[in-house]
Amino acid sequence: MVRECHSSSYKLYDRALESLVGGVNSPVRAEPRPTPSFVDRGDGAELVDVDGNRYCDYIMGYGPLLFGHDLPEPVREGVSEAVADGPMYGVPTDVEVELAEFIIDHVESVERLRFVNSGTEATAAAARLARGYTGRDKIVVMQSGYHGGHESFLVDGNVDDRKPGSAGVPDAFAAETIPVPFNDEDVIRDVFERHGSEIAAVLTEPLLGNCGIVLPVEGYHETLRDLCDEHGSLLIFDEVITGFRVGGLQCAQGKYGIEPDLTTFAKIIGGGFPVGAIGGRAEIMQAFAPTGDVFESGTFNGHPVTMVAGLETLRFAREHDVYSHVNELGRQLRSGLQDLVEEHTPEYTVTGIDSMFKILFTRDAPDTMDGHCRAGCKQRPECPRFELCPKTGADVRAGETDRWKRTFWPALADRGVLLTPNQFESQFVSYAHTEDDIERTLDAYQEVLSTKVG
Ligand code: PMP
Repeated sequence: MVRECHSSSYKLYDRALESLVGGVNSPVRAEPRPTPSFVDRGDGAELVDVDGNRYCDYIMGYGPLLFGHDLPEPVREGVSEAVADGPMYGVPTDVEVELAEFIIDHVESVERLRFVNSGTEATAAAARLARGYTGRDKIVVMQSGYHGGHESFLVDGNVDDRKPGSAGVPDAFAAETIPVPFNDEDVIRDVFERHGSEIAAVLTEPLLGNCGIVLPVEGYHETLRDLCDEHGSLLIFDEVITGFRVGGLQCAQGKYGIEPDLTTFAKIIGGGFPVGAIGGRAEIMQAFAPTGDVFESGTFNGHPVTMVAGLETLRFAREHDVYSHVNELGRQLRSGLQDLVEEHTPEYTVTGIDSMFKILFTRDAPDTMDGHCRAGCKQRPECPRFELCPKTGADVRAGETDRWKRTFWPALADRGVLLTPNQFESQFVSYAHTEDDIERTLDAYQEVLSTKVG
């Protein structure tokens, strides 16, 4: 056991419960039992909690921390200088232009950008832009996808029976948002047949990164692209997680060879500071004020500290072996996990891509384990495990999520491995992780999977 004592975290949690709603500022942080560990500091690939326990961290801030917890020198220096110059101005700066140019230079589909402060703001603004530009109201999203906590996309259900995904969201929003199963060509074709002329946009992550990690079946993106083109709808890729992670500097859209009309970014492009962005074809983006009549604005938009952190982060990633390092360790980890799962829990599925990974607690026993796909699964029908790999959010939600929460997650935390506390969020390997970390992590998984400690 590595994690032995929680007494300082217990005390802080008790205190927090008297001042913060549920003791936290984002609900997922309250999920760990018996208490969330309060962080003292980050150190490379590790988090150190207030009781002195050290964890090999795969939450990585839910995605922004490409380098781990220690920022490379140029990022740290840039941030310090920006702070020393005065934290923000509400007046344009050169660094926001440079960051925009960097993104435009690397992401083929992006010609103009608007920087905002979170992924939620980015997708909310992208929805308004798509509606304003097309003059239509309906947006198609993927069931179990997540695009931030705002009215347009907090919608559950299916094409014919949709309802608000949170108290406080009016039914009127559910009327305009159509959830479809990811990877299901028949359903999306049917939706376009029935509603094509009302659809402003299809919004999807290139792979579902908030629902276990579900990879696209070959051809699905192309179908979305074709349907949007045929019906005058926009294709929006939400690359809040995948942007500048999957596919490196070209993002997931470069890796999959698809050009969306609009892209939302966040996380990595802020180098660990709050950020979001909408990017896309100039003709569409110009519909935003001040050139167009789709309103969007923000006191902190293009915040100089964030912009410099993002710019230096992306430059560092371009000039060093960052993506080859994180992707190779991701591959090693998935491959090792695949071996463990085959031996101990063949009903589970290892999934992920590049530096993202997850074990899904799916229940169906495979009929063959020969020639299964390992790293870089392409969801190809000829794969013997094709039928077993999750294709939709519902497939992931059918897994043993209780086991994850009640016992598996804490058993790994006790062994010094910090995973995302709910089973739907992706986990990330950072530039700070080493082969030793991967070995240690696999040892911990081995103990937990083999004994079903969970
Ligand atoms: N889109 C996706 C794909 C996300 O994963 C998230 C958050 N994890 C968001 C949007 C919302 O981003 P934020 O938390 O920065 O508001």
